[in-house]
Amino acid sequence: MIRDLFINFCLLSTFLFFGDMAHNFLRTRFKMKPWMLNAVSGIGLGLFGIVQMWFTFALPNGILLDFRQLSIMVAAGVGGPLAALLASVIIGIGRLAIAETINSASLIGLLAALLTFATIAPAFWIRSIKDSFKRIWIFASLSTTVLALALLLYRLGTAGIPLILLLSGVQAIACLFTYHMMRYLRTTREIQDALKQDIEHDFLTGLYNSRGFESRYRLAAASGSPFALLLLDIDHFKKVNDTYGHPAGDAVLEQLGKLIRESVRKTGCGSRKGGEEFAVILRPCDMRRAVEAADRMRALIEQTPFVLPDGRIIHITVSVGIGLHPHFSESELVEQTDRALYRAKQEGRNRGVLAG
Ligand code: GH3
Ligand code: MG
Ligand code: MG
Repeated sequence: MIRDLFINFCLLSTFLFFGDMAHNFLRTRFKMKPWMLNAVSGIGLGLFGIVQMWFTFALPNGILLDFRQLSIMVAAGVGGPLAALLASVIIGIGRLAIAETINSASLIGLLAALLTFATIAPAFWIRSIKDSFKRIWIFASLSTTVLALALLLYRLGTAGIPLILLLSGVQAIACLFTYHMMRYLRTTREIQDALKQDIEHDFLTGLYNSRGFESRYRLAAASGSPFALLLLDIDHFKKVNDTYGHPAGDAVLEQLGKLIRESVRKTGCGSRKGGEEFAVILRPCDMRRAVEAADRMRALIEQTPFVLPDGRIIHITVSVGIGLHPHFSESELVEQTDRALYRAKQEGRNRGVLAG
């Protein structure tokens, strides 16, 4: 029995690990919608529950058990009610298919799978439980354990109580083990997501940082279609800091970041290149549209009231350099656009200048 239990634990950890990898892959690469991800998780865990039925462990009196209820619990924890329902239906049908005949044992198997779902389901509707993974898990662990033990008591009678107590221990360890493994995988994934976000984004404005800009710029150049680069620099920003203080300057940068992000949401992406300089990539884009977009953005910034931390309102302006690809090659474009920005400053600021 110990050997079989060990094999079951190994099987479970392997599936949880690779399942988490697949889940991540579908979420980030295929941008799968959450309900679809939940459905796929339920189907995957249902199929894994069938595999678990092949790796049963025998009790001293010959009764065969397995950990299929854990798959339904994991489905509930990972994908909510839809996943748990799918997993239990698949496991129930799998139980009938494995038995090849419909007898009382296979029907109890089917019923047990559906009952497992029914005992977990209240966790999704009880308000104090449904928002916490830990509470859902505790609820599911307790309810499925009670269910499994009740079913065993029904089969073995009171003579089976010592065995039932032993199994409660095994079930508790299995639930604890699975919980910590899932917790670990989830935390690792959250840290990974946060790191990815931080590596390419600017903390203050939420826009891409210069590393994020580099990769978007390379992507735009590699796409082969024409795109525009706008370099924006706030006019006399030092004065804002000197007059109102550095935190006020930060508040302006933060609001400007939001403004840029919203105004290019559909047409491209914005980055903070550093300090009070911003870059916007518009794709695909020709000269007329680039000049229009630059002027629209410049005018919008000029008209927008920026609110300082003390409630005061100020106005700022920006100068813009406008460059086009493939008019300039990938290696020349940034430098040429920067020169156009410099000319915009020299010609009086609060204006756009086309590179070329
Ligand atoms: P110009 O019109 O020629 O661009 O003048 P400017 O004052 O904007 O340019 P300058 O390069 O002389 O000064 C840029 C200022 O931007 C200096 C610096 O204090 C400020 N700055 C850069 N990064 C930050 C930041 O993260 N927060 C704040 N508050 N200020 C910043
Ligand atoms: Mg500057
Ligand atoms: Mg400036």
